[in-house]
Parts: sequence; C-alpha cells; structure tokens
Amino acid sequence: MKYVEEFRDPKAAKALLAAIARVTDQIGATRDHPVRIMEICGGHTHAIFRYGLDKLVHEGIEFIHGPGCPVCVLPMARVDECIEIAERPEVIFTTFGDAMRVPGAKGSLLQAKSRGADVRTVYSPLDALELARRNPDREVVFFGLGFETTTPSTALSIQQAAREGLTNFTVFCNHITVPPPLKALLDDPMMQLDGFVGPGHVSMVIGVHPYDFIADDYGKPLVVAGFEPLDLLQSVLMVLEQIRDGRAEIENQYARVVPEHGNPVSLAAIADVYEPRPSFEWRGLGEIDASGLRIRDRYLVYDAETKFGIGYAAAGGRTPVAEPEGCSCGAVMTGRMKPTACAQFGRGCTPDTPLGALMVSSEGACAAYWTYGGARLMEPAE
Ligand code: SF4
Repeated sequence: MKYVEEFRDPKAAKALLAAIARVTDQIGATRDHPVRIMEICGGHTHAIFRYGLDKLVHEGIEFIHGPGCPVCVLPMARVDECIEIAERPEVIFTTFGDAMRVPGAKGSLLQAKSRGADVRTVYSPLDALELARRNPDREVVFFGLGFETTTPSTALSIQQAAREGLTNFTVFCNHITVPPPLKALLDDPMMQLDGFVGPGHVSMVIGVHPYDFIADDYGKPLVVAGFEPLDLLQSVLMVLEQIRDGRAEIENQYARVVPEHGNPVSLAAIADVYEPRPSFEWRGLGEIDASGLRIRDRYLVYDAETKFGIGYAAAGGRTPVAEPEGCSCGAVMTGRMKPTACAQFGRGCTPDTPLGALMVSSEGACAAYWTYGGARLMEPAE
C-alpha cells in the first residue's frame, strides 16, 4: 500500500474486524471476561477513538490506555520546576505548544507567561538554538520533553551548541524511555494485561528488541503498530492470534517505518549526549529506576538543572507534589482507571479548565475521550 487512503479502506477494515471477532471467540473472551490489550502510545489511544475502533471491535476486547503520553507522565513537581526556571528574569524559556497548558501546583507555563515570564513556543530545539544565537545576553532554555522519538533532536541541538561554543543555551531535560515503565506495570500484580500494541514512533528510533523482555520474561505478546485504522486492527489481530496460539513474541506490524534495530544515527546521538538517571519520577508510578535520561558530564554546561541548581540538581533535593484533590491522572495514565471514571472528568476538568495534563495533551487519554465522546461520556454524579 502506498497512499494513506489505502490504510483506511472500509472493505479491508471489515475483513480485519471479522477476523478479530473470529479469533476473540476462539480465545473465549467476552464482555465480562475480556482480552485486555494495552496500547502504550497516546497517539494510538487517539487513533482508536478517532476511528471508533473501540466500538467496532468484538466486545470481548478491552483497550487499556498506557503511559505513552510524554506530557501526561510529567509529575506536578516537574512542571513547577520548569516554571521556576521560566520565571527567572534572564531566561527565555522555550517549549513545544503541548506543554504550555499543563498544570503544576504553581499553575502552567501559560499562566507564568501571563505573569510576565518570557515563555515562547517553538517547533524544534533548533528554533531555541537560533534564539540563543540572536540573544547572547539572555539564557535560552529548551524544555526537552518526550520519549525516544524526540530525544535525538534535543541531542543534536546540544551537539550543535557545543560545536558553536554557545554558552547561553541549556536544556531542561525530561527525556524518558518506554521499556522501564512497562516493566513497572508488568511487575504490578493488580495490572491484568494480556498483550500490548507497541509504540510506532518510539520504535522507529529504538527498534523492536528493547521489548524482548516482555515476551521472554513475562510471556506477553507485543506488536509494534502504525497509526492508521488498518494498522491498528491488524496489530490487534496479531496480538490475538499469539494469545490464541499460546505464543509470546515481539512482532512488527509497522515494518514499513520501523527498522528491526532502530535508527543508528539517532541511537548514536542519544548515546553521545545522555546517560540513564539513577531514577526519574513519573506521574502515577513514582520514581522508576533508569527510566529517565540526563545529560552526560561532557555536555553538562548545557544542562539547565545544573546551571540553575533546580530539580534533581537542587542542593536540598526535590519536593514531590501530590495530585489535586479528586484528580485521578495517575490511575488513568497507568491504565488502572478509564478517564470517565475520574470524578473530575467533564466537571472540574475540561480542555478549557484542565486539572491534569491528560486533558490538554494531544496524546492524553482524557483529551481523547472528551474530543471523541464529550459530555455524553460523563458518569452521573453521585
Ligand atoms: S479527567 Fe482531568 S483530573 Fe481526571 S484523570 Fe483526566 S486529566 Fe486527570
């Protein structure tokens, strides 16, 4: 297939849905005893709801939404730390638009901007580099955020800053990796998962082998998937077939984009610039060993935490911040609760008045439910 329409072909979708129904019946899954498949990536969550796949598949399949929205997994304390940097008078704080309205305990970057902080939206860390070149008397900080998909571009910007000898450019590094939180979820006895739809964009960078432990150590299937409806339906079918056949393998449905061993140029840039942090705090999961990346010593002058003595580099350590009263972001983010079961969904929390990042991020599960279901999904108030 060459064109996007071919990945949305209704006839092919019907055939896949029929095959999914057949295999689900062969497994014996029902609405009361469903097969629980976690789509890790927030982009997949949105695609499932945008195309109504959750309604179209056999009722014996339950989609569990995973922790693959990089903005959503940021804990409140981390948002506060970035506002602390942004509010310094010498700083121009640059960020992707997605992070502007994410609330911390001290408000959002947008609110910090309205209070006078110089916060600017950029489309690439290279835009932040250009700002640093044009403003040699200011400190330009880039909000480095995201999984392995965005990590290489931040690494390349740091390498470029080093080549140019820029001294007024730093990165507030919040880059994280997908495998450690999956291990944390699999180690949780409360999580009943039968298989995974693996992230397409992240896997483009890291390849498929970092997921081997899911099949080898936990006996669960994972299929790396694309983002079109037929991609997702085919991936779900591949997961179901493995479950029916008693197999646990890592398969690649998105082979047209995802190389088995990832992208060597991106992986080399990541290895050159970053090393694993001992641990990193995730919303809803707490500190997870080796799940975040920090800037290596040789590039430490480009590390905003070190330069400003904030976050993990703060002299007195970090202060965790509890989620707001009644907010269930952590439970939703880790697939323990559906967005509609949060008492705040559609009441205290809407896209206009978000309480949590999951309602404002373009990859957040609550935003997906609200965008494609809206107020009709609200559970009656008790
Ligand atoms: S509805 Fe709002 S408060 Fe509840 S989990 Fe979603 S983002 Fe968090």
